[in-house]
Amino acid sequence: MTIAVIGSNMVDLITYIDRMPADGETVEAPDFEMGCGGKGANQAVAAAKLGSEVLMLTRVGDDIFADNTVANFERFGIDTRCVLRTEGPSGVAPIFVDKDSHNRILIIKGANAKLSPADIDAAAEDLKRAKLIVLQLEVPLETVYAAIDFGGRHDIPVLLNPAPACADLAFDQVARCTYFMPNEPELALLAGMPVDTLEQVEAAARKVAASGVANVIVTLGRRGVMWLADGQVQTVGGLEVQAVDTTGAGDAFIGCFSHSVVSHGDVAKALAEANRYAADSVTRRGTQTSYADEVVAHPGA
Ligand code: ATP
Repeated sequence: MTIAVIGSNMVDLITYIDRMPADGETVEAPDFEMGCGGKGANQAVAAAKLGSEVLMLTRVGDDIFADNTVANFERFGIDTRCVLRTEGPSGVAPIFVDKDSHNRILIIKGANAKLSPADIDAAAEDLKRAKLIVLQLEVPLETVYAAIDFGGRHDIPVLLNPAPACADLAFDQVARCTYFMPNEPELALLAGMPVDTLEQVEAAARKVAASGVANVIVTLGRRGVMWLADGQVQTVGGLEVQAVDTTGAGDAFIGCFSHSVVSHGDVAKALAEANRYAADSVTRRGTQTSYADEVVAHPGA
């Protein structure tokens, strides 16, 4: 096994509506779709689709969504021995999308909120074989910190994607990661600085890097990505594509970066590959369904 993703899974319940119902009103919605999501699961699926061996440590509930989630992991060859069953609901995200593609999203963390430091201890023998541990913030912070600690104790590099943005994330924990990979709002919140211009992004990234984290990698949406390491900044420009749906682009980026950096160890090359892979994903609708099986040379061509 090469990549261990310790994090969330969600079931997206997407209802397409003409308009939101008013208080007490019932309206008929023209369409409905169910999809597998959650930041951890998305990142695991992207890396697995690209050919990495991936182990997922996560919790599902005891409802009908759990089997669906496990089957989805298995479909992509993800190792599910550490997918743990929990009493109560799975993580679900009811999503309402209107005619103009505006969305309203509810997140019920469900079983994800019960992933604990003890689960990391219990999975230790499996996790020890990882070449990279990948983390996000849709599970309790104490579990994220325990995973960072585990990586440190076993000399396994840790990639932390601080999403969704969390004001409580501790700088001294970030410092222990090898790769810290926020998007712009997440960086702004942690650094306590604006990120409206590239100069401001760089200043905020430098503030975070001063904590001691080796690589700060900021995804910039259609503007690409900025990488700060050893005091040096490099920017990979965004690629011109026909963007149809950018949902899950950040997870595509992280899944591909993880796969690439574990495969060949060249961070600059991994960033260029992830930038192409994520740009390609925004040219298709959906999250996991928009992820390709390879890093194409010309996204959206
Ligand atoms: P999300 O929350 O939607 O998953 P995010 O905010 O975490 O996304 P972004 O920084 O928006 O992540 O995008 C991640 C990467 O996806 C970018 O660094 C870039 O490589 C690619 N990307 C996103 N949007 C576009 C776009 N419109 N055109 C080209 N590439 C894009």
